Amino acid sequence: MKCSQCGVCCKLFVINLSEEEYRSKKYKTMFDEFVEDFEEAELCGVNLLAQKEDGSCIYLKAGKCSIHDRRPQVCKEFFCKSENKKFKEMIRQIRAYKENGTRMDK
Ligand code: SF4
Repeated sequence: MKCSQCGVCCKLFVINLSEEEYRSKKYKTMFDEFVEDFEEAELCGVNLLAQKEDGSCIYLKAGKCSIHDRRPQVCKEFFCKSENKKFKEMIRQIRAYKENGTRMDK
């Protein structure tokens, strides 16, 4: 089964970067100006990709991932058609978003 590339997951979820990804400086991250290094970012829970004002990923452009070839590992792992139980809640949120057109936290 292939990803439909609807971009909904990129609108709903914050993206945690691994240490390697964070240190690579290849990604725009949250609170860059206030955080010194990965340890501090992880401690504060901000080793995250930057988001737009609406909460969607900074790299979501015209509904598509603009860095698809180098997207973070967690983006590669997640698949909304997955049967993996660890994605159950995320998939539920995607379904709710598609049905209601709003985030569940708003
Ligand atoms: S990096 Fe790409 S795949 Fe990952 S959340 Fe952002 S737009 Fe989506």
